Amino acid sequence: LFVSLEGGDGAGKSTQAHKLRDWLVAAGREVVLTREPGGTQLGRTLRDAVLHGEDVDARTEALLYATDRAHHVASLVRPALERGAVVVTDRYLDSSVAYQGSGRDLGADEVERLSMWATGGLLPALTVLLDLDPVEGQRRLTGAPDRLERAGDDFHRRTRQAFLDRAAADPARWLVLDASRGPDELATAVRARVEGLL
Ligand code: C5P
Repeated sequence: LFVSLEGGDGAGKSTQAHKLRDWLVAAGREVVLTREPGGTQLGRTLRDAVLHGEDVDARTEALLYATDRAHHVASLVRPALERGAVVVTDRYLDSSVAYQGSGRDLGADEVERLSMWATGGLLPALTVLLDLDPVEGQRRLTGAPDRLERAGDDFHRRTRQAFLDRAAADPARWLVLDASRGPDELATAVRARVEGLL
């Protein structure tokens, strides 16, 4: 079973990913908890380059995320799924469609095609969208903002809307949750949906 968590910065994706992992492990499942960008050693190099390296144009940025994703899927995600593990990833290709496609204006369809090529067409069975007002998400963040977290409000509004539009177009894959709700309440809603897929 392949599950991704998506949403803006500060929405609580990693908290929910950990809660889901702990619940699945307690139920006796093998779980691989991972993230994009940066789920592999090469991915961590790419993550550092894209978030903290020199400024690059939108196409280069999209290709760096796609490279991270291609290697992540080939070396970690697919092998785990093939041996029957549950893979929980904090961000996957819908982040690229939203951030690089709609946020950076490359076009959602084009970035989706790039992502599908990079992954050999691997889509999660479930994608949980933790939907939050970007202003609230920014307020929750602590520590030094990276380059993308400093990007304008308009960018974050476009990416939020892109996630919502994708979710509305494919309700069988997506679960949309109001991320202003408490973490335990959100975890219960995620579990209810995952239980039906196990
Ligand atoms: O969620 P995480 O902290 O790993 O994301 C790091 C940064 O990369 C965030 O600012 C996020 O908005 C950005 N990002 C992006 N495009 C992606 C994935 C993440 O712009 N495809």
